[in-house]
Amino acid sequence: MGPLRAREVAHSIFDVDYPRLWASGKRAVIFDLDNTLGERRTSKLHPEVSKLLVDLRARGFRVGVLTNRRWRSVESLVAELGPDVPLVRMAHKPSRKGYAALLGRLGVSAAEAVMIGDRTLTDVFGANRCGIHSIRVSGFSS
Ligand SMILES: [Mg+2]
Repeated sequence: MGPLRAREVAHSIFDVDYPRLWASGKRAVIFDLDNTLGERRTSKLHPEVSKLLVDLRARGFRVGVLTNRRWRSVESLVAELGPDVPLVRMAHKPSRKGYAALLGRLGVSAAEAVMIGDRTLTDVFGANRCGIHSIRVSGFSS
């Protein structure tokens, strides 16, 4: 497997087989923000996204968000996500630093995590170099 190759692909966050990931030992789902968890530059979660996050947490998954965006543009999202869904901003993906910080806050190892994102050179490459199972989505669609 090459470092730029996603371990799996899906149309959107709603098409990922989360029960299979759980069965394979995954315990945390990390989402990219722009064009993955919402539209580009989104500052509010769609209701169906909020529902998905609640469902994932009810299944036992830890959930986190890893974004290269800066603080001001994610402030309202951090409040909306709440304290149980950590968001690491200015992650400088594909740097390993942000991934490591978020894994620490989620309390899981790289092997227990999956990264879902729309960009190969940031989301996928960063996850692969950290040993995190990478899933590339085509984009956000509600
Ligand atoms: Mg993105």
